Amino acid sequence: MSLSGKTVIITGSNSGIGLGVARELAKAGINVVLNSYTDTAEDHALAAEIAQETGVTARYIQADMSKGDECRRLIADAGGCDILVNNAGIQHVAPVEEFPAGKWDAIIAINLSSAFHTTAAAITGMREKGWGRIINIASAHGLTASPYKSAYVAAKHGIVGFTKTIGLETAQEPITCNAICPGYVLTPLVEAQIPDTMKEYDMSREDVIKNVMLERQPSKEFATTEQLGGTALYLCSDAAAQVTGTTISVDGGWTAL
Ligand code: NAD
Repeated sequence: MSLSGKTVIITGSNSGIGLGVARELAKAGINVVLNSYTDTAEDHALAAEIAQETGVTARYIQADMSKGDECRRLIADAGGCDILVNNAGIQHVAPVEEFPAGKWDAIIAINLSSAFHTTAAAITGMREKGWGRIINIASAHGLTASPYKSAYVAAKHGIVGFTKTIGLETAQEPITCNAICPGYVLTPLVEAQIPDTMKEYDMSREDVIKNVMLERQPSKEFATTEQLGGTALYLCSDAAAQVTGTTISVDGGWTAL
């Protein structure tokens, strides 16, 4: 079955993994809806660039994934979708007793609750079309934990549980729901953690990357946004029609430890 002409909505896709997934799916002929909470000329230019490079239809829709009604509006404004990639995410690192309550709420809202709202809004349209793919970008932190990332680890474990539940709710339909669990990928989200970690451990940038970030990634290499796009494309393919309610790790061996 060709994926050409299908439409994907990717939350949080004006940078990093979301943008990488958008580019890989567009190369397969899938029309793309990009999203973030901003509404700048650069955001719309990204969509225009993808359309020009691949020939698909691409547009950018502003919607704040920390708000349930905006998550649902995104799906409505896009006119539904065949493929939904729940990717928007933020991070904050602090010991639990110092963890700001506002940051906890924002991480749970953006990294977990947004997927509930978008999925709830998109699934009826998928049922009507008789086909659908829901792909949640979880994390190695959806399967394991690290200190000082309480909200992120809680949200990512939550999204793995949500993935299993939606996999079961759609098990007898041509709809699948899976989570991709990346290890470290060098994106703005990870880049932002480097300066603080350098300060905390009094280390150089290179040492932070090798000895702190990639310490738990046995391959000692970052996963790439292209590889995550390729994994998403596989989950959209016929070969993955019986893959549902589960996780695929792209973590250089992290979760084998
Ligand atoms: P990133 O910062 O490059 O991308 C995050 C995206 O989410 C951006 O497009 C940002 O604009 C968007 N976003 C943030 N708040 C939003 C909001 N309120 N509404 C709408 N969009 C919002 O980071 P990334 O590394 O590409 O992260 C993407 C996803 O991958 C996240 O869910 C993250 O947890 C997950 N992840 C990343 C890594 C990694 O190493 N980079 C590893 C595992 C999982």
